[in-house]
Amino acid sequence: MNATTLEKKGSNHLYSSSDYLLEVTELKKHFPIKAGILQRTVGSVKAVDGVSFRVKKGETIGIVGESGCGKSTAGRTLIRLYEPTGGDILFKGKNISKMRESELRRTVRKDIQMIFQDPFASLNPRKTLKHILAEPLITHNLYKGREREDKIQQLLEKVGFNPMFINRYPHEFSGGQRQRIGIARALAVNPDLIIADEPVSALDVSIQAQIINLMEDLQDELGLTYVFISHDLSVVRHISDKVGVMYLGRMMEFANKKDLYDEPLHPYTQALLSAVPVPRRKGVERRERIILKGDLPSPSNPPQGCVFHTRCPAATAMCSERVPEYKEVKKDHFVACHLY
Ligand code: SF4
Repeated sequence: MNATTLEKKGSNHLYSSSDYLLEVTELKKHFPIKAGILQRTVGSVKAVDGVSFRVKKGETIGIVGESGCGKSTAGRTLIRLYEPTGGDILFKGKNISKMRESELRRTVRKDIQMIFQDPFASLNPRKTLKHILAEPLITHNLYKGREREDKIQQLLEKVGFNPMFINRYPHEFSGGQRQRIGIARALAVNPDLIIADEPVSALDVSIQAQIINLMEDLQDELGLTYVFISHDLSVVRHISDKVGVMYLGRMMEFANKKDLYDEPLHPYTQALLSAVPVPRRKGVERRERIILKGDLPSPSNPPQGCVFHTRCPAATAMCSERVPEYKEVKKDHFVACHLY
């Protein structure tokens, strides 16, 4: 399926093509639950169950939600670390959701890179920085001999390292420095899009700011596009142009940062934001804290109708029966709620 056929489907959350580097439509990732000696499939965990958003080149899209909402699974499914159960992923206008691995490797694997939460776990402790950074260059057959060495030195300098460190091992560095190595490794193959999965959550607050500043500087310099996944609404507010809010595998709201933070429409977004302390600003009302009742339901047995209805302060009878459509209720402001 190409971009044009997506447009023809006629739903208002399927997008046109060329402006967007990445267009995700109704992405789903279900994991089977197996039981018994024969390991029969007895159900599924709907980790991602209908996520749509689009990203322009050079933008940063923040994806927020509580732990277990499916945001990290969505990030991994976007780059086909997990096989999507359904939906479409258009990258540079090409549908990569069903692309064969051989074609993915040739065309996409280099252009989309990932930065992980735990840089230590994702760096081989037995390899020096030189080997860690050479690996993606070798995999994608980029730069040879002296040029490769020069490229590795440039990468180290780009992320604020002394190139003299080239023969050191990951354990010789702090958490923040290791995340810089993770960023350098992602940059090695000159990607267009970086999926950053909780890249600063494991770091001290002062170090978080340094890594965020580095990512912003690199974006300006290299024209990078980010999908930034985090549970931290303040960090996402700082770095993002647009923000998507996920709950139980679904996208509840997606809008420009200002619209979403100043005027959240979805009751779940309103509750999330009410818990974030914000400085008093002229013309902007301080929000009442909204306490959500109950626990997050299990994604293996999500509620019928709107998945948020068991906790929503605004729920009506219809909410437990009908799934709300995810639709554009204002320009570039998408919401999945029967109130709109
Ligand atoms: Fe709440 Fe109903 Fe809207 Fe869901 S559809 S968020 S339950 S009001």
